[in-house]
Amino acid sequence: MIEIRALASNPDRSRHPDGHLAEIRLIADVCHNLPWADQPQPAGEYDGLVYTWQTANDFQRSWLRKHLARAGIDTTFLEQAPRLPRPATAPDTRPTWKQWQLPRDPTFLAVDSRTLADLVRRARAVDHHDPTHGPVRADFIEWFLDHLYPNGRHILRPSRHDETLFQPNGPNDLRQYRAIVTMNDGALIVHHPRLHATDVAGLPTNLHLLRRLQLAAVPPRRQETDAGLWARQHRATHPNCRDCRYRLGNR
Ligand SMILES: [Zn+2]
Repeated sequence: MIEIRALASNPDRSRHPDGHLAEIRLIADVCHNLPWADQPQPAGEYDGLVYTWQTANDFQRSWLRKHLARAGIDTTFLEQAPRLPRPATAPDTRPTWKQWQLPRDPTFLAVDSRTLADLVRRARAVDHHDPTHGPVRADFIEWFLDHLYPNGRHILRPSRHDETLFQPNGPNDLRQYRAIVTMNDGALIVHHPRLHATDVAGLPTNLHLLRRLQLAAVPPRRQETDAGLWARQHRATHPNCRDCRYRLGNR
């Protein structure tokens, strides 16, 4: 943070060939995914620092090396860590001949983008006292909602008992759901919003039973693209995104 401030007030200090703004952006990006930073984090099964290290570019890696060395942290474990099984791919929406399971709990719903955004915002309104819901997390959720496919038909079901609970359920009827979400570039990702169970229960059952059974027969899979990964790719490939600038302008 101190380094970013120094670069902003004194651009001549920059050692990046594209100038101080590029350097600020790279430092901010690499810090964003450090394990002690606020959200978004990569999905639970990965070491946050290894993930950050392996997805950093050369400039970011040398920046990390310098600062970890200054803090007396040996980076050998980072250099030698096995490659993470990224990049992730889109979640499956139907089983294959080779991979299927007996259909379980076919309580799937389809929601449009406006309904999904309403559900998320209504839940967030009572979630503010949660320590993981700082302003950075709130900004990320709004950024995420801005990037939904406008006419998306997203699929929603309650999280199952054997799935990772990213935060305990509650207060009251807040529950974790698993959503297959269509983003504005058409990409399918997995998301785990916390929603009011009563809000979801009030939605119409709008998927045919055969479709719900088909979805329930999809086996669980690791390495699915989640919101954090999609955000990272999106920021790298769409530096001039209108929706991103809109969000920044509203801060
Ligand atoms: Zn964007």
